[in-house]
Amino acid sequence: MINVTKTFLPPQTEYQAILKQAWDTGWMTNRGVLVKKLENQLRNYLKTPNILAMTNGTLPLQIAIKALKLKGDIVTTPFSYVATTSSIVWEGCTPVFVDIHPEYLTIDENQIEAAITPSTKAILATHVFGNPCNVEVIDTIAKKHNLKVIYDAAHCFGVTYKGQSIFNYGDVSTCSFHATKLFHTGEGGALFCKQTYFDSMFHHHNFGHDGTENFHCLGINAKMSEPQAAMGLSVFPYIDFILEQRKIIVDIYDKAFVNTNLQLLRLRDFTNWNYSYYPVIFKDQSQLFKVINALEKVGIYPRRYFYPCLNNLPYVVKEIMPFAESLSSRIICLPLFVGLTVSELTLIAETLKKNL
Ligand SMILES: *Cc1c(COP(=O)(O)O)cnc(C)c1O
Repeated sequence: MINVTKTFLPPQTEYQAILKQAWDTGWMTNRGVLVKKLENQLRNYLKTPNILAMTNGTLPLQIAIKALKLKGDIVTTPFSYVATTSSIVWEGCTPVFVDIHPEYLTIDENQIEAAITPSTKAILATHVFGNPCNVEVIDTIAKKHNLKVIYDAAHCFGVTYKGQSIFNYGDVSTCSFHATKLFHTGEGGALFCKQTYFDSMFHHHNFGHDGTENFHCLGINAKMSEPQAAMGLSVFPYIDFILEQRKIIVDIYDKAFVNTNLQLLRLRDFTNWNYSYYPVIFKDQSQLFKVINALEKVGIYPRRYFYPCLNNLPYVVKEIMPFAESLSSRIICLPLFVGLTVSELTLIAETLKKNL
């Protein structure tokens, strides 16, 4: 059975050797040496100044909304994982959806201004599949209307845009280190932000503590634990290998699909991508079902990322998003992980092409 992804695991002995450091100190959480070491390694590798490791990739979204004191409407994309929208609603704000660009699949920056009202407080957009949003136009709109910008950069580990980490754009960016993501800590994530927000983000992720007996603010517990950091530290030395292997797979798929009518992801110019997902877009949903059935018959299980569209969630006010809804009915992500063999890739590509 071949799934859309498979967690990269380093040799167990390497994980255990790092974990032993936590055993030796008896320190399991509350920002121990391993969490701090992981943050340092990631800060240097990603070239991003302000990083805060967290226990998953969803809490940083909620903390960003809370700590930026957003109350009202947040303009957002309907084409993302559910956590993007659920975080907005969880924090008592209202998502206002804007349709996506037909080729880049990120929020259509040209439709954002029409959605802005006096209640709009922020833009929360997803760099979907690691493909950057139009960060320049979004920045201009945000400045003009005095809005905060949060990027759900869950897919973006290692992505750079115009030579800088994509995490350096916007007021806050978040990443997921979930086991299904290309760099992982089992469960885990991180928040990246402008320097001015860092202390507030920190307090919010640690119960609001100001020392042991005082409190700055309302907070929650989003701290990454030492065992999570140990996993990250044992995966980290393999990150360049992981990225290289993923590139090889993406190149094989690209070559296989050259003369087909499949729509593939269009990357924004000036992007150094991370090969995080391989989406393929069919002409209609019946073609999608035909391909999925054929792949499942040979033991291959792609995923419908992302379906359904988030504007159809039961807890939001339904707005029609013509392109995003059409797209989400026609798109799947193909298996992409370290260890896929050339013969497996050939089987996937040939099975898919035979059913177009
Ligand atoms: C994975 C993901 C999240 C959530 O991250 P977790 O670490 O699973 O909490 C949020 N947004 C997007 C776009 C994701 O793909």
